Amino acid sequence: MNGKIEIDGRVIEYVLVRKKIKNINIRVSSDGTVRASAPERSTVRAVEAVIAAHAERILQAVDAALAKLPEPGRVVVYGTPREVVAVRGRRGESRFDADGRIIIALPDPDDAKAVSAELRRFLEIECERTLRFLVDKLMPLFAARGAAYPVISFNHAKGRWGSCSPESGRIRFSYAVLTLPPECIGLTVAHELTHLLVCDHSAAFYRELAKIVPDHRQLAAVTKNYSPASFFSSVL
Ligand SMILES: [Zn+2]
Repeated sequence: MNGKIEIDGRVIEYVLVRKKIKNINIRVSSDGTVRASAPERSTVRAVEAVIAAHAERILQAVDAALAKLPEPGRVVVYGTPREVVAVRGRRGESRFDADGRIIIALPDPDDAKAVSAELRRFLEIECERTLRFLVDKLMPLFAARGAAYPVISFNHAKGRWGSCSPESGRIRFSYAVLTLPPECIGLTVAHELTHLLVCDHSAAFYRELAKIVPDHRQLAAVTKNYSPASFFSSVL
């Protein structure tokens, strides 16, 4: 069931699910929805008492989640500002159209919160697909020089495009990489894969990188025009 309670003038909407559990749990999901799970026989009043007791923390978590959602409007993707258009449709039908606009398809395109969440989901999927494709494409060049295939993961880092831990074979990319022009995305992937061979930024590192991306210096200069932080708030 869905419910709402008002605390200090703010309305907290929540989704309540009853389960075979012992305690009432409250969590805030990444789209800002408050989710309560409660033992099967617990009352709405008991659930709302727990929400009220933690209202301040819950509202902080909701605000933090909503702040991370890109607002519909314009978002810089692949180095180009894109108009975001919400249309009525089924989830999974979101796409780039022939003019490069981002079409967000939802059952209720007037629900701004749902549009933001679907936009974010669409951009995350697009980012993972593109980066995994590039890793697969470039990896044979690095494997030939002794690198093992890395474990790739993604995060919402606002301070860096990516990082590599050569000893554990892990590479993490920020979803914000999607804001870069395609050739700079290629550089970012090649940069992190080069760390599988050379962990620091020594002359040896750039010698290896130059074998894959000869114009890496020019591309690094272009990349400096973009910031991971502004991607997450890049509503123009
Ligand atoms: Zn590096």
